[in-house]
Amino acid sequence: MLTNDQLSQWDRENFLHPSTAFGQHARGESANRIVKTGSGVFIEDRDGNRFLDAFAGLYCVNVGYGRTEIAEAISRQAHELSYYHAYVGHGTEASITLAKMVADRAPAHMNKVYFGLGGSDANETNVKLVWYIQNVLGRPEKRKIISRWRGYHGSGLITGSLTGLTPFHNKFGLPLSEVVHTEAPYYFRRPRKDMSEAEFTAHCAAELEALIEREGADTIGAFIGEPILGTGGIVPPPAGYWDAIQAILKKHDILLIADEVVTGFGRLGTMMGSTHYGITPDIITIAKGLTSAYAPLSGSIVSDDLFKVLEEGTDKFGPFGHGWTYSAHPIGAAAGVANLKLVDDLGLVQNARDTGAYFQQALKTALGSHRFVGDVRGEGLMAAIELQRDPATGADFDAADKVTAQVVGEMAKRHVIARAMPQGEIIGFAPPLCITPAEIDQVVDATVDALNAVTGAL
Ligand code: PMP
Repeated sequence: MLTNDQLSQWDRENFLHPSTAFGQHARGESANRIVKTGSGVFIEDRDGNRFLDAFAGLYCVNVGYGRTEIAEAISRQAHELSYYHAYVGHGTEASITLAKMVADRAPAHMNKVYFGLGGSDANETNVKLVWYIQNVLGRPEKRKIISRWRGYHGSGLITGSLTGLTPFHNKFGLPLSEVVHTEAPYYFRRPRKDMSEAEFTAHCAAELEALIEREGADTIGAFIGEPILGTGGIVPPPAGYWDAIQAILKKHDILLIADEVVTGFGRLGTMMGSTHYGITPDIITIAKGLTSAYAPLSGSIVSDDLFKVLEEGTDKFGPFGHGWTYSAHPIGAAAGVANLKLVDDLGLVQNARDTGAYFQQALKTALGSHRFVGDVRGEGLMAAIELQRDPATGADFDAADKVTAQVVGEMAKRHVIARAMPQGEIIGFAPPLCITPAEIDQVVDATVDALNAVTGAL
């Protein structure tokens, strides 16, 4: 068997990791956790350390680790048919069944799904769907996509542009000119502390109206947003936000893409996050919870109205000129079918609602009045705490102090994994949907202890 030292050496010498400081990693100055196995909400590294994974990988292992039902479905599929493409009308039992299962779980007016590999490529597909549809409708200039600051929609060229976090733009010459950003619905960081939620919603709506006015509604094809901001800081929208935004989009004939890569299939305690917030999208992006990351698979769910336009376009102009070799990959599809069955059989959407409510309350009780906690927020099994030097005055910590990274490091010493979100002093939580209240207590206790350990000296 390979030793850990051997693996670490190869890792430093040969492996370029995503979202990693390459130099530090190559020089051995940063973490190098080699994960070996997982079961339920726990993972174990090669040194035998066991962690409660309160971020479910990258908020994707919704059914938890080590599910033999999914492993066996993947194995059966690989033995029977490891691959066949889905071009020009080809399918497999798994991919067709999964399309039906997705349609059954989507809002009633959405019944068609285009499968991809991950969230980024699904959003790339969505942009091309919008451009194609606007072309078929005879208005090719309706091409720009509005996204929000702090939104996360992927890290490709157009999807990295849609992402409203500057580390994903800087030094890449992004965003591309087709993407424009509007205000983040981030009540904690509202322009004035005396603004009510309703006033802040009106402010976000006015900012969107002003942007549409500046750019010209006839140049804007679609708006994209996550029901609740994820990677941008796990931020639920202020009351009335989605109603206000949808009214404006409707008025200006702008399509709505709900990016449900994180919220799809239960995380907020409803099958879809759109349902939770009364969103009626034209397109929904799905990925992570579709297979619980047992295999890569994503999708773009399209409304019946948009499908009519796609039908008209391809009747007139020939086949839709867009596809991936691995679209609807049978192994991903088999994982998806087994995964969605498990979500139902284990009652995980209900658990996300019930245990999620317990989690939100437990975090608020334990940390709501901590002297370095500015905000505790979340919905279902998605939560965050935002740290500040002085919540009373709103003074922030210096980024250079890396307080959040230190707290998350201390949490790992207490065998709990949370995520230091990429922008701001924000600790994110998004555990597997099968987590129990006792395991939630473990997460909350570790967070409090770690925070006190880091801030005790301040
Ligand atoms: N959309 C959202 C809302 C996401 O959270 C993510 C990934 N965190 C993506 C898109 C991109 O997905 P992927 O990393 O699979 O490309």
